Amino acid sequence: MHMIDLIAKKRDGFELTEEEIKYLIQHYTKGQIPDYQMSAFLMATYFNNMNDQEATYLALAMRDSGDTIDLSSIAGVKVDKHSTGGVGDKVTLILGPLLASLGVKFAKMSGRGLGHTGGTIDKLESIPGYKVELPVERFIKQVQDIGIAIVGQSGDVAPADKKLYALRDVTATVDVIPLIASSIMSKKLASGADAIVLDVKVGHGAFMKTEEEAIKLAELMVSIGRLAGKKMTAILTGMDEPLGHKIGNGLEVYEAIETLQGHGPEDLVYVTVEIGAHLLIDAGLETDFDRAKARLHEALKNGKAYSKFLELVQAQGGDVQALKEPKNLLAKKTIDVKATKEGYIVDINALSIGKAAMRLGAGREKKEDSVLLDVGIDLHKKIGSYVKLGDVIATLYVQEQGIEEATKLILEGVSIGSEKIELPLIRKTIK
Ligand code: URA
Repeated sequence: MHMIDLIAKKRDGFELTEEEIKYLIQHYTKGQIPDYQMSAFLMATYFNNMNDQEATYLALAMRDSGDTIDLSSIAGVKVDKHSTGGVGDKVTLILGPLLASLGVKFAKMSGRGLGHTGGTIDKLESIPGYKVELPVERFIKQVQDIGIAIVGQSGDVAPADKKLYALRDVTATVDVIPLIASSIMSKKLASGADAIVLDVKVGHGAFMKTEEEAIKLAELMVSIGRLAGKKMTAILTGMDEPLGHKIGNGLEVYEAIETLQGHGPEDLVYVTVEIGAHLLIDAGLETDFDRAKARLHEALKNGKAYSKFLELVQAQGGDVQALKEPKNLLAKKTIDVKATKEGYIVDINALSIGKAAMRLGAGREKKEDSVLLDVGIDLHKKIGSYVKLGDVIATLYVQEQGIEEATKLILEGVSIGSEKIELPLIRKTIK
């Protein structure tokens, strides 16, 4: 087999076989196919696309390019969730302990934030002492013992994807649905769970800007997961405004704690419980969707979910005492941003708010950058809120950097109009 023939085949609009895709991935991972040839192949794919079968072969070949986690020694159904990335999305921090408190096994490897979207691992690091790196055996033992572990990616998971993603990034070929689907699914399949819920975000703070694109991506990922033997669900959720009120690492842990104690914001609770209900059923612990939701709400109200969160923090070396006063996770200096006119909030551009948090230091522009754990934004208003001139719409938690830019981005991102609008949060479920 020769790479030049595979490039020509894709250029001319033909479908690649399983063997050809395996060849491509195995040889590229070993450095036997140069970047210039892979770049040509990616661009040919950008124009001629891949069908679902090719995308599935690609996901499986990338999964098999590195380490896979074997969770079979943990009894029961192991569950996982993945979000395509949003602003203020702290669902994992709540969902994990919530499900584990009801007996579901939550073995989660999470990522760090990049660009305007945050990452669970950075958020957890704002808890003093919390260790995000555990050897695989300890990770598995912790899930066996307390039903939950949340760690950063260990080992060499899907190295082909790492290399390919970096190349896509610099060749303007990120935006290809089968490439995105196989990239995400290669990592999900390598992390060993039996049931997966994908939260595909749509809107201006999300990767997928239109509902049509988001549905295509969601359907393809569900199909890849099923072909690999997993129980799959995807929900499409709006990322027109940030989820909840708080954005930034320590701030999001703070809001997760409030939610686990039964006083979370409505939208955050809604998405978390919806995802949780699918997983509770997939885990075989409930059969009825409404009953599943009721049990999840109850575990948020009666303290069970919060106790499980404290158990998780303790097991991973975190300082449980520090969480008694979660305000300590936040920067001491605050600045209020005020409404410049009166009316209904008709838009809170999640992309602008995410960028504002990044300017304050909560996010990173490049993978190597470090983040400030205690800075961020507390949005006091949601789309549909009525504000008067001078009302505080957001409080910034700041150190020294980015205050002016962040204020400007927030004022640009929050639009005030004369009519009250409501946007649906969950747009579609694919099961
Ligand atoms: N996230 C991924 O992991 N891969 C993509 O291709 C896009 C987003």
